[in-house]
Amino acid sequence: MSAPPPPPSRGPADKSTSILNKAFPKIDLDGHNLPPSPAPSSPRNGRKYALATELVYTESKDQYGASSMPIYQSATFKQTSAGGGSEYDYTRSGNPTRTHLERHLAKVMNAARTLVVGSGMGALDVITRILRPGDEVITGDDLYGGTNRLLTFMKANHGIIVHHVDTTSPEKVRGIVSAKTAMVLLETPTNPLIKIVDIPSIAKIVHDTNPKALVVVDNTMLSPMLSNPLDLGADIVYESGTKYMSGHHDIMAGVIAINDPAIGDKMFFTINSTGCGIAPNDAFLLMRGIKTLAIRMEKQQTNAQAIAEFLESHGFRVRYPGLKSHPQYDLHWSMARGAGAVLSFETGDAALSERIVEAARLWGISVSFGCVNSLISMPCQMSHASIDAKTRKERQMPEDIIRLCVGIEDVDDLIDDLSRALVQAGAVTVTMDGFHATGSAQAVAEVPIEESDAAAAPS
Ligand SMILES: *Cc1c(COP(=O)(O)O)cnc(C)c1O
Repeated sequence: MSAPPPPPSRGPADKSTSILNKAFPKIDLDGHNLPPSPAPSSPRNGRKYALATELVYTESKDQYGASSMPIYQSATFKQTSAGGGSEYDYTRSGNPTRTHLERHLAKVMNAARTLVVGSGMGALDVITRILRPGDEVITGDDLYGGTNRLLTFMKANHGIIVHHVDTTSPEKVRGIVSAKTAMVLLETPTNPLIKIVDIPSIAKIVHDTNPKALVVVDNTMLSPMLSNPLDLGADIVYESGTKYMSGHHDIMAGVIAINDPAIGDKMFFTINSTGCGIAPNDAFLLMRGIKTLAIRMEKQQTNAQAIAEFLESHGFRVRYPGLKSHPQYDLHWSMARGAGAVLSFETGDAALSERIVEAARLWGISVSFGCVNSLISMPCQMSHASIDAKTRKERQMPEDIIRLCVGIEDVDDLIDDLSRALVQAGAVTVTMDGFHATGSAQAVAEVPIEESDAAAAPS
C-alpha cells in the first residue's frame, strides 16, 4: 500500500469493501487507522510470543497514553465535514473501544477478524443469519440448551432443516453431509456429557463433500487459551465471552472469529443492521477480563483435575478430558492445550443429586461456567431444561448428572465442601474405616473420616 486508502464513507450501513482481503494492515478491515498493536506481535528473534503474553500485551493510540483503552461511552461522533470524514460516526456501526477489543481478540484467536456482540447466543444468531430457507444444518445431539432452542426456532419459522447426529462419530457426519448442507455446527467438549468432537476429521469430510458448507465451532468450553478451532479447519469460531473470556460473570458477550474476509463482511452487515454489537462499557470489561485468562484458566484447570481425581477415586462415574479414563482422552489432547474446568459426574439417582447440589455451600447453584467462583448445577433442570425430557432421554442425558464448573478458590476448601455435601446428601456413608458410597451412587469410597469433615455434617 503506497498511500493510505481514503476514509471509507461512513453511512451507518455503508462500509467500504476496497480494503478487504488484508489481514492486519495499518488500516483494519473496517477502515480504522490503528497502531500495529493489537496485531500479531513477536519478540525480536522472530519467535511468536506465547499466548499468555499476547493476552496481556496491547497498545492503543490514546491521546493521553492511557494504559487501558478508555470507554468511549458515546452513541455518536462529530464529523469533520458535511459528508462525514471521521473514523467513527455511530456506535451501532463502530466504536473505538469495541474496535480495540476486536483487534485484540483477532490476534489472540489467530483470526483475520473478530466481531464482538452482546452475548454468545447473539453471536450464533449473527452466524445463522447466513442461512436461507431449505438450507441444511448438521449438528450434535448434546448441544448447549440455548443453541438447541435457537435451531428449533429456525426449523419452525425459517425453513431450516436441522439434523442432530452424534458428532463424536465423523462417520455419522459423512453419512448425512450433502450438497444441501450449508452449515455444520460443532461443540467440543460437549456439555454436560463431555463428549469430544474430532474437528479436523469432520472439517475435512465436510469440505471434501461440499466446499461451500461452513464448519462452525462453538469454542466456549475451551476458550482461545486452550484451543484454536480456526487452525483445526473450522471456517467460523464463536464463543460466549460471558464465560472464560470475561471470567467474572459480570457481563454478557459473544465473539465471532473468521479468516475469510467475505464471511466477516456478511457478519458485520448483520451486526450493523440489527444493532447487536457489544456496548462500549461491556467491551471495556471484556478487554479487562481477557488479560487474566491465562492465569485464571491455569488455576481453574489444576483445581478441576484434582476434583475429578477425587470423585473418580471414590467410585463416581466422572466425565473430564483430563482423566485418562475419558474414552476420547487422546483425541481431546490432539486438539487442545488443556482439559478446561468443567466436569460432570453421576450419582445414580436424580433426587440424591438434588440433595448434593443443595448441600454444597462454596459451590454456588448456578448455570454457566468460566467464572472465578465454583458452581454446581443439574443441567437437566437448569441450563438444559429448554431441551424437553423426551429429547433428553433420546440423547441419553442422565437426569442425575451433576455439573461442576471449577473456579480459582483453594482446592482443599472446594474438596472439603463437596465431601460434606456428599455426606449430608447421603451419597456416601461414613464408617470408622472410611467413606463409602451408598448403593445408588454405585461407588465405594475410602476417605479417612477426619479429611472429609464428615462427622460434623448433619445426616
Ligand atoms: C453460555 C454458552 C453459550 C451462550 O452464550 P451466552 O453468552 O450465554 O449467550 C453458547 N454455547 C455454550 C457452549 C455456552 O456455554
